[in-house]
Amino acid sequence: MSLCMNNFCQGATTTAIFGELLCSKLEPSILEAVYNQTAINVAAEMMASIPAFRSNRSNLEKHILKTLAENENFEDYREYIHSPKQYFTRFIMNQAVKYLNNEKKKIQTIFRGNLKNLKLKINNAVFVATDEVLKKHGNADMWMGCFSKPLIEDLKFTEISNVDSMEMTDFDFLSNIVTEGLTKMVKNLRDADIKLEMLQKRSEEILTDHFCQCCWAQCPFCKAVCIGTMKDHDGEHSVPFHRANGIRGMSYRGTENLCCNFCTTVAQTDKEFYPNGESEELFPYKLYRTAGGVFATWNITPDCSELPYWKWFVCRFQQDLENLYSKKFQGSGIIPDEWKKYTKEDALESLNNYI
Ligand SMILES: [Zn+2]
Ligand SMILES: [Zn+2]
Ligand SMILES: [Zn+2]
Repeated sequence: MSLCMNNFCQGATTTAIFGELLCSKLEPSILEAVYNQTAINVAAEMMASIPAFRSNRSNLEKHILKTLAENENFEDYREYIHSPKQYFTRFIMNQAVKYLNNEKKKIQTIFRGNLKNLKLKINNAVFVATDEVLKKHGNADMWMGCFSKPLIEDLKFTEISNVDSMEMTDFDFLSNIVTEGLTKMVKNLRDADIKLEMLQKRSEEILTDHFCQCCWAQCPFCKAVCIGTMKDHDGEHSVPFHRANGIRGMSYRGTENLCCNFCTTVAQTDKEFYPNGESEELFPYKLYRTAGGVFATWNITPDCSELPYWKWFVCRFQQDLENLYSKKFQGSGIIPDEWKKYTKEDALESLNNYI
């Protein structure tokens, strides 16, 4: 944007108008910069103080599983199992909103600190620009260039150009106008109630970038999410704990029976599977990679890593799972008695082995 200074404005008037215009242009960019910096600080505060955010994604997942068990809401579980990224994002947002509302006072203090720092930086730029122009007998363009230079990283504002530099000569006066205008503006911003919604989006973005820019591949058998921390990582997908396959709706073909096997356990047996609903070809679990496609991209180690958490889950939500998939844990998919002995406490405790 350029300001047209017409012939009627001269000398002091031009300087005053210029100074006030500059202040009014600075205000939105100061506000934006301070909110942006505060969002960065607040996201860091959240990562330091919210237990679910304190470490990596595996730790976050552990807290998600804990919260899911505590709330015992099947609809949440369904989203977590079938749309993990969507559920993780929602969980992160809920935690962030809770934090923002609970820590408003602390956030206001951070905001005011950032505002103060920026004000000092701008005042210093005014001082340096004025000093330089006076020393070199420069004009308004030179002042503007000198003023903008140290602020370019912090503030997004367009320079005021096409000022008739012959009209503006009193740079001490300009310096006073800008400094006073800035003081008044900063005081108003400082006293205003902080708008949490202006922090929410940016801080959530920082958190989801941190936790969700990773591999989201799901085990072709049980839908457990790969723990790869990079989006397109080298090597095969893997996860330390798989789930019972009926949890995601896997069933025995031609029956109403849900599967009740953990992938890691069944991979040690001589059982076979159809890679999809249409396939006529059976593949042995032991050689699951020969089924090709996504099966060839996973490393499923045959072991006995059956997390009691999922055994408790299947027993607790048996009815909901059966309704969701219109099938039953019966016949070959009957739930072993051993699974029924786990309490919710056992389930939660088993999560401590999770990372
Ligand atoms: Zn004018
Ligand atoms: Zn699996
Ligand atoms: Zn992966």
